[in-house]
Amino acid sequence: MLIVMKHGASEEEVRQVIDTIEDMGYEARPIPGRQRTAIGLIGNDGKVDSSRLVGLAGVLEVIPVTQPYKQVSREWKDEPTIIVLANGTKIGDNEVAVMAGPCAVESEEQILGISRYLRGAGATVLRGGAFKPRTSPYAFQGLGVRGLELLARAREETGLAVVTEALDPESVDVVAEYADMIQIGARNMQNYSLLRKAGASGKPVLLKRGMAATITELLLAAEYLLAEGNDQVVLCERGVRSFDTYTRNLLDLTAIPVVHALSHLPIIADPSHGTGIRAKVTPMARAAIAAGADGIIVEVHPDPDHALSDGGQSLYPDQFKELMDQIAVIASAIGRRLVSPLVPQNVG
Ligand code: PEP
Ligand code: MN
Repeated sequence: MLIVMKHGASEEEVRQVIDTIEDMGYEARPIPGRQRTAIGLIGNDGKVDSSRLVGLAGVLEVIPVTQPYKQVSREWKDEPTIIVLANGTKIGDNEVAVMAGPCAVESEEQILGISRYLRGAGATVLRGGAFKPRTSPYAFQGLGVRGLELLARAREETGLAVVTEALDPESVDVVAEYADMIQIGARNMQNYSLLRKAGASGKPVLLKRGMAATITELLLAAEYLLAEGNDQVVLCERGVRSFDTYTRNLLDLTAIPVVHALSHLPIIADPSHGTGIRAKVTPMARAAIAAGADGIIVEVHPDPDHALSDGGQSLYPDQFKELMDQIAVIASAIGRRLVSPLVPQNVG
């Protein structure tokens, strides 16, 4: 339930609403907006007597939130949420954010080399797994904390922000220490103890859609993060399982406008895991931007043929550069921009 205050309602009137909600045994969460202040009532058990709230001074209206997710919904907050990373990258504004890098951090030479290239090509966020969720226990599992240290070095050298995955609640603290944004992977979208821990970390979170998750389930997973008081959440469509085995997953680009209608949170697309095939990554990245995605996360490797994971879906550096030029044009055609908060550098 949402209590919307009249334009110009006083602080005292807002306080009165909060006190009344708490007196009724619920939690109050003020949501300051550009146009109006609203106060969310958390913990609605269906027994809330809204007449007590409607009658209070300064209250414009009381809106029931009909969706199963609450704080994530557009009903709760109409204005789009904009996530700002430590290096100034904005996600959820008119600007399109580009996150790029290898599937996994493999060595100092690999991550520093590709970071410099990506920076020069206009990316502002570096991706790279230090803890890797691999289908086989015998496959490369990532460099762990050493991988995080290398990501931090790459950030120091290039100014790129770092997004990397936390695999379990135990690794959230160490990932939060090194990363600018914590990634929750598709396999973990409904790992509720991990979601709570990541939500409580206070760091921005990139939440990837589970491979068999509905959009409602994705939004409910995001609700766990917001319920911990963290609204710095970016959703990510990364493809779902389908009956067609030609591509690794079915990149559900419909999820982009659907999520934008249902939620104020930004959503980006991952055409790399979404297709699993290098030659399909660029067309689907272009399509995602055209569909209104707030950004893309794309795998790029200096030597994909020898990558320790996901080489077959990783772009060669020059393909990434070409993609950047193309999506800049697509973004501007729909009134968006590819803007870097970083000082330009030439591609080496
Ligand atoms: C990844 O980003 O490398 C990854 C493992 O993604 P997902 O969780 O979407 O499979
Ligand atoms: Mn990968």
